[in-house]
Amino acid sequence: MKTQTNTFQSTCCYCGVGCGVVVTKEANGQLSLEGDKTHPSNNGMLCSKGMNLHYTVMDQSDRLLYPQMRLNKSMSLQRVSWDEALDRTAAVFKTFIKKYGPDSVAFYVSGQCLTEEYYLVNKLIKGFIGSNNIDTNSRLCMSSAVVGYKMSLGEDSVPVTYDDIEAADVLFVTGANPAWCHPIIWRRVEAHKADNQHVKIICVDPRVTDTARSSDLHLQINPGTDIVLNHAIGRLLIENGNIDIDFVTDHTDGFETYRQKVMQRSVHEAAEICGIDPHDIEIAARLIGEAKGFLSFWTMGLNQSVIGVNKNLSLINLHLITGKIGRAGNGPFSLTGQPNAMGGRETGGLANMLPGHREVVNAKHREELETFWQTPVNIEPKPGLTATEMFEALADDKLKAIWIINTNPMVSMPDVNAAENALKKARFVVVQDVSSRADTVQMADVVLPAAAWLEKDGTMTNAERRITYLPKALDAPGEALPDSEIIWRFAAKMGFGEAFNYKNTSEIYDEYVKITAGTSIDITAVNHELLRKNRSIQWPAPASDNAFENITSTKRLFEDHQFYTPNKKAQIHAVDDENASEPTDPEFPLVLTTGRIRDQWHTMTKTGRVAKLNKHIPQPFLQIHPDDAKKRNLNDGQLAVVAGRRGEVRVKVQLSTDVRPGLCFLPMHWGKMLGSNLNRANNLTSTLVDPKSKEPDFKFSAVQVSAY
Ligand code: SF4
Repeated sequence: MKTQTNTFQSTCCYCGVGCGVVVTKEANGQLSLEGDKTHPSNNGMLCSKGMNLHYTVMDQSDRLLYPQMRLNKSMSLQRVSWDEALDRTAAVFKTFIKKYGPDSVAFYVSGQCLTEEYYLVNKLIKGFIGSNNIDTNSRLCMSSAVVGYKMSLGEDSVPVTYDDIEAADVLFVTGANPAWCHPIIWRRVEAHKADNQHVKIICVDPRVTDTARSSDLHLQINPGTDIVLNHAIGRLLIENGNIDIDFVTDHTDGFETYRQKVMQRSVHEAAEICGIDPHDIEIAARLIGEAKGFLSFWTMGLNQSVIGVNKNLSLINLHLITGKIGRAGNGPFSLTGQPNAMGGRETGGLANMLPGHREVVNAKHREELETFWQTPVNIEPKPGLTATEMFEALADDKLKAIWIINTNPMVSMPDVNAAENALKKARFVVVQDVSSRADTVQMADVVLPAAAWLEKDGTMTNAERRITYLPKALDAPGEALPDSEIIWRFAAKMGFGEAFNYKNTSEIYDEYVKITAGTSIDITAVNHELLRKNRSIQWPAPASDNAFENITSTKRLFEDHQFYTPNKKAQIHAVDDENASEPTDPEFPLVLTTGRIRDQWHTMTKTGRVAKLNKHIPQPFLQIHPDDAKKRNLNDGQLAVVAGRRGEVRVKVQLSTDVRPGLCFLPMHWGKMLGSNLNRANNLTSTLVDPKSKEPDFKFSAVQVSAY
């Protein structure tokens, strides 16, 4: 599409669907926005959040406009220059590093960051400061899927593409509510089903969501029983002769151990544990077994769990035993929560990773980066602190300084009261953000104002591995700077100016793509110019002799059934099915699960400013079954106290049969800045994490509910 000078093609910066948008600057300075009909991820469609995205840029009432600083915790923040803010930050960082070592400092970043920003922070701390203490809020969201893919397929690689939706005849949605959280994908699913009566949707969720309501079969399992269900389906697939034995023999390892594992429980026993009808498991297994196209979707219901990796593996196993992967309409599709969670993973934005899907524990990988970056220090072989570990280390004074970029842990961390206390104890906190509405700004010693969406340029990768370029369309207000520039200016203050001597984000991107050469995510054909011309591309896209315009996307991975493992075979893992969440007891007998609502995003620093979006559900609520409410003499709309082992929340109850007895649901969006710290769902959430992915167990915390 040819754009006019005042029209810009960009990408929605909310969820991982990565919808293309067209933004027009009107003569009066107002913005208008519509879906980009040329963008293959959404073909012009937008959900309620995306349609209202431009209002978040036009309303600048909450913007951080200039750097602020305080010299000690008893002072209030004062306006300072960029040089003063960065000089002081560099001086404090250098002091801590000299006295306590490089691991005394950390960066906590975000799936909102552009790929170039992610890359730069990684390069700075891992290659130049000499610590792996960088983690991202994607740890709270995607890390179980990352480990699941790596353990089964050999790499963190989403094997499918959105076009697989139209080629599937069974869509298995588990631990996800795409009708609210990935609406444009869901519209494609619904349109496909409407056009093809044989297409079936199976939804697995302890709650009756809008996704469950529009499914053919809802398996309303007990929380934490996903693996039991997946194993029972696996058993039936084997017993019914619905596995692809040639594929299993030629392209996988581990089947026999898996077969023995899933035979340990009868389907009736599994159904009892899951709290569902065994006949429904049989229907699900038959539909999956007979499907030509079996596409599974999942998000936080599997990932945000103390057994999140095993849940992922038990689902991917269903694709491996049936050979329903690497073929049109087939494959396990982890729906990304954030707009650039995948770009962050590609650039090594987790404490255990390096750019190009490399690992810090791998000596060869470290050496490749040390040589490429010409690092003044050796990259540490030990993974750095993960998201939750950073806050624990701040509380213990093992970590002295933290730099938080574009995320709001004062609302989003599990056991958020402990995270808040950790930030209070921290010796030095830098907050780099767009909005003063981020609760975390209140905890900062230095506040750095960042440019927002449309005010900077760079790239993002969406859930189907599609990289899109986002141009700069507007000047940032006040003295706000693009995040990349803030980092390269700081790097220079730290004495690393030569290695961070960038003039623009294209230079950063060109450097990054070189590192991907020969890796599973080789994008050496890609640069900003190509993306400006071709709009988007799905990785891998290695350099070739093709003309620039003819570089093509890789839509689907593993079509040759060669996986990224050393012997090219996918690994079937026979995982245990027991849940390890916080136990309920007579004092805290209910299970609390948390999640998103349709029109809000994360901690509401953006969507909470849009009147149209606030109308949908204006206040937090606790969804509880009428039987549980009756036992507690609670009426619909009554104010209640939800208490757990770590804190409490005061909220109005909503009586609903959408949750099973014994389960209640609280949205995760509200924080202190939007009322009171008694709104925060994460006052209650468990500190348990998956041992392999270190992702928290947000979906299962023991609570009690009583009248206020
Ligand atoms: Fe934005 Fe996601 Fe909605 Fe698309 S589906 S418009 S990316 S929030």
